[in-house]
Amino acid sequence: MLRFAVPNKGRLEEPSATLLRESGLSYEKTERALSVRVRNIDLELLFVRTDDVCELVADGVADLGITGLDLLAEAGTPLQVVAELGYGRCRLTVAVPQAMGLAEVADFDGLRLATSHPRTTGQFFADAGVSVTTVPLRGSIEVAPKLDVADAIVDLVSSGSTLLVNGLRPVLTVLESQAVLVAPAGEVTGLATEVATMIRAVVAARRKRYVLMNAPAGAVAAIEDIIPGIDAPTVVPLAHDGLVAVHSTVDSDEVWSVLPRLKQAGASGILVLPIQQLIP
Ligand code: AMP
Repeated sequence: MLRFAVPNKGRLEEPSATLLRESGLSYEKTERALSVRVRNIDLELLFVRTDDVCELVADGVADLGITGLDLLAEAGTPLQVVAELGYGRCRLTVAVPQAMGLAEVADFDGLRLATSHPRTTGQFFADAGVSVTTVPLRGSIEVAPKLDVADAIVDLVSSGSTLLVNGLRPVLTVLESQAVLVAPAGEVTGLATEVATMIRAVVAARRKRYVLMNAPAGAVAAIEDIIPGIDAPTVVPLAHDGLVAVHSTVDSDEVWSVLPRLKQAGASGILVLPIQQLIP
């Protein structure tokens, strides 16, 4: 049976559970369950700490896992990223007290950096040929400069508001992170491939919308220029002469800019629908 390690708490828990269910995994989880059998697939979900996922997959306890790319980098385990999942986005950022004039990597030579990612931080500065001392901390990293435990910090940032509140200024990005599906190095086979395909299909679908509209046949070329679709748009004749229905997909981020242009090109009755799964 395939075993799949997923976050049991924290920021990645809820979006990961949503992704698994949308991918077609059917299971009922009680609050304290440590593992659960999936009803419709020969798969067991292991609910673990997000930062234990890499270790469990590397040790062979689990065949697949969901964790943050930052945690994969920090674990240093030889796993492969099977899919980028598009949530849990953040940046591992070097931030300095507002008053400090540090800006470039070289400015950090000889400084102390508080971080929960000492390995990734050490590697980043070593690659740049800059010598720093990392001060490993688990939480409340932002207060380290105030307490004079460190000169600056390297921490995960999404909006940047926590930095601001603590009088810190982001200056360098060490790593762009998001949630990822990981597997042991080597070829992913059997059921793990199928699970990865279903998950990728949901992630791909979230980036697209299905768009349908009616238009005069003569407007199809102009519409096609606006929405090329995956291969080509579907064009079907309507009951009334000279009118067609055009079906296609559009990037979710572009819907807002595409709709007015479609209308201008002659489209009417435009519908935008979510897509559940998309396998290109
Ligand atoms: P947790 O500590 O369990 O809430 O999960 C932490 C993981 O969530 C990190 O390793 C990142 O991959 C991800 N994450 C996304 N945004 C942030 C953020 N602003 N701060 C910390 N972790 C974040």
